[in-house]
Amino acid sequence: MYLVLLGAPGSGKGTAGKVIAEDLELAHISTGDLFRENLKNETELGKEAKQYMDKGELVPDEVTIKMLKDRLAKADVKNGAVLDGFPRTEVQAKCLDDMLNEMGTKVDMALNIDVPFDEIVERIANRRSCRGCSEIYNVVFNPPKVEGICDKCGGELYQREDQKPEVVENRLKVYSQSAEELINHYEKAGVLYNAKAGDSVGKTSFDIAKEVEEYIKNN
Ligand code: AMP
Repeated sequence: MYLVLLGAPGSGKGTAGKVIAEDLELAHISTGDLFRENLKNETELGKEAKQYMDKGELVPDEVTIKMLKDRLAKADVKNGAVLDGFPRTEVQAKCLDDMLNEMGTKVDMALNIDVPFDEIVERIANRRSCRGCSEIYNVVFNPPKVEGICDKCGGELYQREDQKPEVVENRLKVYSQSAEELINHYEKAGVLYNAKAGDSVGKTSFDIAKEVEEYIKNN
């Protein structure tokens, strides 16, 4: 099973994706995390990606697509994967269709999590990530047990460069530029699942994950 997560940065797709991947025993592949791992390890790929990431811009398609292709070839993808943050452009979506086609499979569901932008801006401002395992916390709604320390691995929590307000604004702009074509792509393929989340509808990322799992079970 291959599940693609659409939705703006800060929509909670990372959190929902991790829950779904764990429950359905799928690999969780986040291209943002893969880039950050390369950054931490100071690889050539990491150095190249950094200049785009720090500004909230997209890393060029050819670089991102190659990285994803290598990741999909790993053994833990045997049951399928939840793709978090890929595709982000229509070119990437078409490449993904081709890659999966070559593997004899396809995207089974594209989950589009829709959260109002004003809520997203506040959420990202409250967000902290673990330097060790990249677990995500919200200092208001989902704080760690000990301030500044990851519950899972004891790593240091920090605010990513691209979670700062001026970069967030640009990331949302970049997202808006390609959101519609991605949504149309998966709507045409008949695999789009729309979910509204956030305070205004009283639904968390965990609620969305459970709703989607229920839907998958019954379809
Ligand atoms: P994320 O954690 O998914 O918000 O990703 C962080 C950053 O990594 C993005 O702002 C981009 O600079 C880069 N990135 C992640 N995924 C992609 C992608 N599919 N295409 C291009 N750039 C990406």
